[in-house]
Amino acid sequence: MPQDLYSILGVPRSASADEIKKAYRKLAKKLHPDSHPGDKKAEERFKDVSVAYDTLGDAKKRGLYDEFGEMATKSGFDEKKARAVRDYQKQAEEYQSGSFAGGRAGGGGFDPGDLGSMFGDFFSQRDSSRGRRARQESFDEENGPGADSESELSVDLRDAVLGSERELSVRKPVRCADCNGTGVRTGSKVTNCPDCNGVGELRGRRMCPRCRGEGKVREQCLVCNGEGQKEELVRLKVRIPAGVETGSRVRLPGQGAPARNGGPAGDLYLRITVRPHERVRVEGRDLFLDLPITVGEALLGGEVTAPTFEGPVKLKIPPGSQSSRKLRLRGRGLPSLKGGAETPRGDLYVVVQIQVPPESDAARAAAEELAKLYPNDVRRDLAL
Ligand SMILES: [Zn+2]
Ligand SMILES: [Zn+2]
Repeated sequence: MPQDLYSILGVPRSASADEIKKAYRKLAKKLHPDSHPGDKKAEERFKDVSVAYDTLGDAKKRGLYDEFGEMATKSGFDEKKARAVRDYQKQAEEYQSGSFAGGRAGGGGFDPGDLGSMFGDFFSQRDSSRGRRARQESFDEENGPGADSESELSVDLRDAVLGSERELSVRKPVRCADCNGTGVRTGSKVTNCPDCNGVGELRGRRMCPRCRGEGKVREQCLVCNGEGQKEELVRLKVRIPAGVETGSRVRLPGQGAPARNGGPAGDLYLRITVRPHERVRVEGRDLFLDLPITVGEALLGGEVTAPTFEGPVKLKIPPGSQSSRKLRLRGRGLPSLKGGAETPRGDLYVVVQIQVPPESDAARAAAEELAKLYPNDVRRDLAL
């Protein structure tokens, strides 16, 4: 039984968008695979958390999830169909309880058994039940676009800051060459539709979805099981925009599943994970870099060079800087995917860390001199 998305993120159903985002960030940080190498459980939870946030972090998807529950999260979910089926179901209930306006006594009414097959029609892709392809077409517009698909992609922090272009191998649905995307076996015989026995209608009131009212069906393509498409490893050139974060989705228009009837292909979404950087920590859109300085630079101040993803930057160390002092380089953090003045680029904080020199007689002598310069006990305020 799939877990409720809200409980995966540990938030109540009434949580605000902000609370959801915060809960997600916290969990994603805690469970990130790079901090738990080889821990399958953490990896699974990390995936669950990303999947939950993918839905709950998006106002529209969250609304559909609240309305339809788990099925709304499946690939290819179609809210229009879902609403139509729900209305149908409601009518069926009303009919059974005698309140349905058009209800006729005895026969010809709603058969709850139909609902199962109708629910199967919610999805345009993925579930590969027999004959699904033909059935769903009674609901689909003839030239409806192909389904969207999704793939994972890990990027370095450098790529997240600067953006990048790269070629990757992605498993994605492509048109089946054997049947040219029709799902019908080439040269196959035409037979009577087994669902309606060749009549084209079910119980005299509804078009048979399997044969779309034609009463005839053809054998499925054996290569793609009648799907008209199959998964293949494909090389793609991808532009990762600057400003992606873990959980961002990069849309590649037209790289999703092909449409069955010559319509446009769906989109491919790359779900991004930003790998933790060896030296740079990320907090929101701000970056933090530890910068070693000498005792002399800490005492007297000085100009030093700090590395950034865009090359070295000079900055001034103020005299009397203690370890952990943060020096802000404005606008050197993560750019915003949205851009604009409302979501400015983050900052880079250079955090100075005083390095003591290696031990030596001279260092010992200098230390003795320095020890005399503290006016008070450095730990005098430490009472807990
Ligand atoms: Zn095929
Ligand atoms: Zn039929």
